[in-house]
Amino acid sequence: MQAVAQDRMETLDFLAHQAHFPASTDLCANSQQTSNMKFDELGLSDPLLKAITDAGYESPTPIQAEAIPHLLMGRDIVGIAQTGTGKTASFTLPMIEILSTGRARARMPRSLILEPTRELAAQVAENFATYGKNHKLNMALLIGGVSFSDQEEKLNRGVDVLIATPGRLIDHFERGKVLLADIKVLVVDEADRMLDMGFIPDVEKIIKLLPQIRQTAMFSATMPSEIKRLTDSYMMNPRNVQVDAVASAAETVTQGLLRVSGGFAEKRAALRRLINACEVGNAIVFCNRKRDVATLEKSLTSHGFNAAALHGDMHQSERMKTLAKFRDGDIQLLIASDVAARGLDIPNMSHVFNFDVPMQADDYIHRIGRTGRAGKEGHAFTLATRTDEKFLDSVERLLGRPIPPIDAEGLQKGTIKVISKDEAKPAPDGQAEQDTTEPTEEKAPRRRRRSPRSKSADNASTSEETVSVEAVSEADQTKDTSDDKPADRPSRSRGGRKASEGSSRSESSSRPRSRSQNDSVEEIKDGNGKAFGKEEYTPAFLRR
Ligand code: AMP
Repeated sequence: MQAVAQDRMETLDFLAHQAHFPASTDLCANSQQTSNMKFDELGLSDPLLKAITDAGYESPTPIQAEAIPHLLMGRDIVGIAQTGTGKTASFTLPMIEILSTGRARARMPRSLILEPTRELAAQVAENFATYGKNHKLNMALLIGGVSFSDQEEKLNRGVDVLIATPGRLIDHFERGKVLLADIKVLVVDEADRMLDMGFIPDVEKIIKLLPQIRQTAMFSATMPSEIKRLTDSYMMNPRNVQVDAVASAAETVTQGLLRVSGGFAEKRAALRRLINACEVGNAIVFCNRKRDVATLEKSLTSHGFNAAALHGDMHQSERMKTLAKFRDGDIQLLIASDVAARGLDIPNMSHVFNFDVPMQADDYIHRIGRTGRAGKEGHAFTLATRTDEKFLDSVERLLGRPIPPIDAEGLQKGTIKVISKDEAKPAPDGQAEQDTTEPTEEKAPRRRRRSPRSKSADNASTSEETVSVEAVSEADQTKDTSDDKPADRPSRSRGGRKASEGSSRSESSSRPRSRSQNDSVEEIKDGNGKAFGKEEYTPAFLRR
């Protein structure tokens, strides 16, 4: 072990030298003191600084200011940061610097980034292309849903940066197509999500295949004990760098809760009305169940909304296309599961709608963090039926306060009003059913209106906005295929690759349908648009 430590020190010196940074430099891990730093103070070379300028970045984010110097010195780091903080650049920039000298040998990549989902892996690859444009580094992306032969060809040419999901990497390794003996830098990104998805055994298996002398960076939004165990076992004296993006995101997000009586059909109708009453630029609608993602997308589309689905059962190319269209503004509403949307970098999202209250409270924070980014104003509205109550409890406990209720009367007039703490009356037995009164009319979807608003964050709990709407009253044409299995979300107890990698392996489509008693049965319609089902569960105004 001593020899390993000695080797390690030499590696650190070597890396520090490479990065033009004295190994003895004492760095401050306090974001307060680093927030005023400039990129050219971090030890990055000119070609990288130029790429950063070309990307339009003026100064490093706190996680970048903290992590980059440590990584350039060859230190291991544990980054407690979530997406939206600029964490991707905090490891890609120093990696490009570190890898800028040396050459990769065939099938022996020099660095490895593990990502929990294909989309995240692809996003990191995009970052490398942007920041590495002035360097000649080869990159390969090993993700499911892409042909093995193309990936093998790249590996054979020699790869400096390998970005992979754990399952696909192990597949390649077991086929003898990739050797991991030359990995000098390992990044495990979104470690807590790896845990959620049951990938930790695979991650550990991969780490054991790597040389002991290497640099390791691990990023995680939270630090559950299993991740702590990983950092203790496989990292050498890591520096902890932490930024808390959650609080700042939440400050700019107006949250609201709409309680809905009934089940899936009533929720879909309530969601339509909610969307119609908002000035949605673009939004993600989160569902807990993969099947609900598909059903809701069909339902919204049939009602004239510009919506598309994103879930783990879709083919990779389809997911990428959908995502690109959403980013480009060609799709207004992205209906997604937590895992499919995890970490996706979609700027300027005006709204997040939680079609279901997430089953794990911290997912609520992740979800609403998709809007109100970078100081911009955002809106996160959550629908809840009785079956959501138990999850709502834990979300509100995590938030430390109730989500302000949306005023249902106002909503019917096309007005969203979130009731402030002072105005809110306590719900009897915590079961207020707000969205049950007859509306004056059903509103037409408005597409792509992006009028900027100037509400301040201070108005977060009392804001009011009025929208003009046209009338529409189409009935729902979709079949309720809701399933009790959470969307893309295997339980923590499930281990190994079989769980999911955002791939079709993850979902058992043969699972018997099960419904809660509260869910209404809304079946597909005949050609005349007549609905079959238990109408008594559906208030009249919601069935229009
Ligand atoms: P990430 O947390 O890595 O997903 O990054 C979130 C977003 O911040 C991405 O769109 C990046 O392009 C952007 N970004 C990263 N670093 C900076 C920076 N220093 N200044 C401005 N934007 C940045």
